[in-house]
Amino acid sequence: MQIRSTGRLAGVIGIGLLLLGTARASLAEPVPRPNILFIMADDHTSQAWGCYGGRLAPWVKTPNIDRLARQGARLTNCFCTNSICVPSRASILTGQYSHINGVKTLSGAMDPRADNVAKRLQKAGYRTALVGKWHLKKPPAGFDYWNIIKGQGRYHNPVMYEMDQTKPVVQEGGYSTDVFTGKALGWLDRRDSDKPFCLMLHFKATHEPWQFHPRHGHLYRDVDLPEPETLFGSTGPKGTLVPGWPLEILTERMSKPGHGDGKLELDSDDPKAVRRATYQKFVKDFLRCGAAIDENIGRVLDYLDKHELARDTIVIYTSDQGYFLGEHNYFDKRFMLEESLRMPLVVRYPREIKPRTVLDDIILNVDFAPTFLDYAGAKPPAAMQGRSFRANLAGKTPPDWRDAMYYRYYAGSRQRPAHFGIRTHDAKLIYYDGLTDRAEDRRWEFYDLAHDPHETRNAVDDAAHAEIIEQLKKRLGKLQAELGDAP
Ligand code: CA
Repeated sequence: MQIRSTGRLAGVIGIGLLLLGTARASLAEPVPRPNILFIMADDHTSQAWGCYGGRLAPWVKTPNIDRLARQGARLTNCFCTNSICVPSRASILTGQYSHINGVKTLSGAMDPRADNVAKRLQKAGYRTALVGKWHLKKPPAGFDYWNIIKGQGRYHNPVMYEMDQTKPVVQEGGYSTDVFTGKALGWLDRRDSDKPFCLMLHFKATHEPWQFHPRHGHLYRDVDLPEPETLFGSTGPKGTLVPGWPLEILTERMSKPGHGDGKLELDSDDPKAVRRATYQKFVKDFLRCGAAIDENIGRVLDYLDKHELARDTIVIYTSDQGYFLGEHNYFDKRFMLEESLRMPLVVRYPREIKPRTVLDDIILNVDFAPTFLDYAGAKPPAAMQGRSFRANLAGKTPPDWRDAMYYRYYAGSRQRPAHFGIRTHDAKLIYYDGLTDRAEDRRWEFYDLAHDPHETRNAVDDAAHAEIIEQLKKRLGKLQAELGDAP
């Protein structure tokens, strides 16, 4: 009896607690599915973002990008799998490597019938929009609203196509970075706010030729920006043998009108002086274009604050790939060397990401789509090769997270040969094909990133590294097999 009564009492208390718990749960505010604001620039490399440090950090004007890094996470090892605009964008949308989605070079196009993350988000109940640079040629698919430029478009008075690629609308008097942001915020104003949104805002900046807005012309007028330590030589027998695009090509291009606020003025024929002058104009114009991006990111963040959207919106800012700013005397991208391979990325989501997070995990552009779907509560399709890094951002990296990545660049030429390779946290092995017409000139390059972060020394013939190089060759083959690539 005693026992029974105690049992009954315990039961009553238990039910009471359960009811109280239920009441508490129903009182607690349910966490809504987050909005996704995916802002991407073109070629805006990490050396030009203050939060990544480096030689230019004291000069760059990126307070709003740095604010995102402070309030959220900064990724230090985010890489593209093929460092060129069109393929990287296709990999981001499909979650697939170039050899699977078929978009391998600049001439590739995205088939509107193909699956992509925007379509998946739409199915999951998201409102989707795309504004700005698209570059995948055929009409965008998966977006409730789109308003884009064709190809590279132009910085001033951009021509935009709103939901119809046959109807150009000139944005008279507008500067592309400002115009795209205005269109994106306009869509946010009139969207169906009962549903979460995914908005992709893709700038044309900082793609060449660097035509900045006149309001930034005063920046860097009377300063000499610091040069990279490799401006005068890291290629050749000791470093990479790849010719790449040297700054002398830019000297030629910038000697004609159409770059920045005027052509390059030279007061010396000395090759070193010419290279230095080219570097100064190039990087100053580049940073001026970046300043407009930062201001517009500030506009977007202010909008989110004003409309009380900041807490429930994931804000990402990244670039489709990196870019050489004079390192190795290169400009442009394409290579697996660090400046080109690295995608700078900051992301803020106050509900899950702690302020000032620095994430060193190896994250790839193919991971973006599954990550967006993860936040949206949707399962990524099996055909997506990337993996969600939502847990990594929350400080809970899965124990089996990758510690090596696979890279492949396709459009080969003598100066910028096709290549593929593997990068781990502290080493990189690259195989170049087509440096010359001779088969014996195909070659490997190995960089000991732990001791040579600027990749000034190709150590492929060092006996000290022979074992690790052999291991990397095996791992590279294994990665290719796993990913279904067979170069
Ligand atoms: Ca690009």
